[in-house]
Amino acid sequence: MKKVIAFLLIINCQLSIINCGNFVFAQYASSPAIAYDAQLEKKVESTMSRMSIDEKIGQMLQLNFDVFGHSQNGQWTFNEQKLDTTFSHWKIGSVLNTPGFSPSATQWREWIAHIQQKAMEHTGIPVVYGLDHNHGTSYVSDGTIFPQPINLAASFNTELVHREAEICAYESRAANCPWVFNPVLDLGRDPRWPRIWESFGEDATVNARMVEAEIRGYQGQDNNHIDGYHVATSVKHYFGYGAPFSGKDRTPAYIAPNMLREKYFEPFRAAIRAGALTIMVNSSSINGVPVHASYEYLTQWLKQDLNWDGMIVTDWADINNLYTREHVAKDKKDAIRLAINAGVDMCMEPYKVDFCTLLRRLVDEGSVSMDRIDDAVRRIIRLKYRLGLFDHPNTGNTKGDYSKFGSEEFARQALRTAEESEVLLKNTDGILPLKKGKKILLTGPNANQMRCLNGGWTYTWQGNNIEKVAKPYNTIYEALCNKYGTDNIILEQGVTYNEKGEYYAENKPEIQKAVIAAAEADVIVACIGENSYCETPGNLSDLWLSENQRNLVKELAKTGKPIILILNEGRPRLITDIEPLAKAIINILLPGNYGGDALANLMAGDTNFSAKMPYTYPREINSLCTYDYKVCEETGTMDGAYNYDAKVPLLWPFGYGLSYTTFQYSNLRVDKTSFRASDTLTVKVDVRNTGKIDGKEAVLLYSSDLVASVVPDNKRLRAFSKTTIPAGETKTVTFSLPASELAFVGADGKWVLEEGDFTLHIGNLSARTACSETYKWETPNR
Ligand code: BGC
Repeated sequence: MKKVIAFLLIINCQLSIINCGNFVFAQYASSPAIAYDAQLEKKVESTMSRMSIDEKIGQMLQLNFDVFGHSQNGQWTFNEQKLDTTFSHWKIGSVLNTPGFSPSATQWREWIAHIQQKAMEHTGIPVVYGLDHNHGTSYVSDGTIFPQPINLAASFNTELVHREAEICAYESRAANCPWVFNPVLDLGRDPRWPRIWESFGEDATVNARMVEAEIRGYQGQDNNHIDGYHVATSVKHYFGYGAPFSGKDRTPAYIAPNMLREKYFEPFRAAIRAGALTIMVNSSSINGVPVHASYEYLTQWLKQDLNWDGMIVTDWADINNLYTREHVAKDKKDAIRLAINAGVDMCMEPYKVDFCTLLRRLVDEGSVSMDRIDDAVRRIIRLKYRLGLFDHPNTGNTKGDYSKFGSEEFARQALRTAEESEVLLKNTDGILPLKKGKKILLTGPNANQMRCLNGGWTYTWQGNNIEKVAKPYNTIYEALCNKYGTDNIILEQGVTYNEKGEYYAENKPEIQKAVIAAAEADVIVACIGENSYCETPGNLSDLWLSENQRNLVKELAKTGKPIILILNEGRPRLITDIEPLAKAIINILLPGNYGGDALANLMAGDTNFSAKMPYTYPREINSLCTYDYKVCEETGTMDGAYNYDAKVPLLWPFGYGLSYTTFQYSNLRVDKTSFRASDTLTVKVDVRNTGKIDGKEAVLLYSSDLVASVVPDNKRLRAFSKTTIPAGETKTVTFSLPASELAFVGADGKWVLEEGDFTLHIGNLSARTACSETYKWETPNR
């Protein structure tokens, strides 16, 4: 018996009938996420019509690069026989990753071209090669490295983010790589999670606006015809991956369904509406359901509700994990059945080809329909056409079409991005800018290492063993020597990392040496934080910054010399006991190869600070919260004998950041005192630079829903805009805010905008407006 599922999606919809073998979906689909291109679809169908079932299944398999040879002492050798068999027999569709080190663009070009040649020879279909270029071309030894995404978020500057993605795309293509596994849209809402720095921080709106800018930068203007200077993105890790209950990577999340849609899904929805060509799936589970096995999340929410014809790729070994780790499948074949039927199109296996034989068996048995296989392969072939790979399987030539690869221009852009991404958190008595001619004691484990400036996914997975390849760039020590003169910098680290150990391993501290050296100095610059890590190896058992590092600062404070703390860390480690000991604090996050130079420019006042915190910095180990905590979490004391107050203790709020100048906000106004769901509000504020130097200000617009049917957030960021304001001048910043942005997802899982009062806030100003009618969306999305 055929199942008929009817979705009544209204507003902007067209009726379509989708026939998927046993399933008939009558649905009103929203307009396609990427415009339909009849010519392109014709080519896809023509290729599909020539493919056998085994060729189709082969396309769905992605293998790791090191399957095809071996590396020794930084040299790679292909195993030609393995290459031939893999393509002639298994006809695989995709390859990913590095041989464990990062080659030059020229080397990459040759390797990928070699693989491409085998693919074309044996299958007539180009492979799509993917790399984790998370902050610039971070797997190419001579590419341009940008700050990590958490820094991009701190810049609150979507133009910089757009340009970063554009340059990364250009350089990836120069290295013959057409596909990057980025950006990360998992909300970084738990400071314990080791991948916060890969994300755009804790807020859904920041993530959504940043991903739109990145997709334009990576993919260019036409998502159906990506040119040779642009790449496909794989937004990841869909979704809720950044909220593990345990705080540890790849462990279950428990997220209320309304929260899931309202906050965690929104950046992915924005990515799809912006044309993201592929999506990578969350390795773990939400409310007990592994996302790789969820038909609801993969097929309904993404492919059907958003009418998206892009491709879904698993994360690393995650089909296997459905039985080895998650225990929702009894064996590998069962796991493949679950994942493919849920909507996975490509399997990042990444080592074995038995995926092909097992999937073939499932098709023969009727457990996976041929329609599902065709749907998956159609999406893969469509991606390859969209990327132009059939016409140009290879790109690159840094001496020809890609002559800007690794250029001064790109380096300058990376430096500028780093400068706009380092956050000034404290500046007592105007100790910064630090005048030239002072003697500086530079101390702490992060003072003289490129590894910690960059973080993970830099030349190697964990970002370790990179000092040789990153030699051309300046550590903080080198950058400060360039700025202040070598004679003025005393380097005595006091605490150092043990490079042979885990990321948190430190050598026996030599704190007294630093204390003695401080006697010669006028000021102490202590560079503290974390060494690089990535994914599960970055798990932690204590959020406090290491005891050695805190002791270093405490002992140095006893000298009475002023201390400037430089925080260089992937997540906010607790520093509540040493924060009062510092005169100034700069959170440089993970600013990349040019982060040391950027810091020196900022410290010297050659450029101004303009970054703001992309996450909430906690004060207490047991109070880890985000800025959009529920209104009931922060209340005054109630009447009567008992103290039932609630407090949210934090060190620095989301959106906090100082500058060398000051800005005064005035005249916040909204054009409507009463609005309906279909209206757009115009919100304006005047911002005056009241200081003596020019500055850039990120203006953040928040809203509060004063009474709602589910406990409202105390506030939500709705929009932001960064603008340059010369000293003494005033600029009016205008926001166009669709009223639908003020809606929330109710207890019934539906978007709703409820009648009642709202406050809009910018800086310390607020303005009232009111929704005149309750409006509920019957569609899954607004
Ligand atoms: C990570 C992904 C990454 C993939 C390929 C996985 O372990 O979770 O973010 O894209 O590996 O390297």
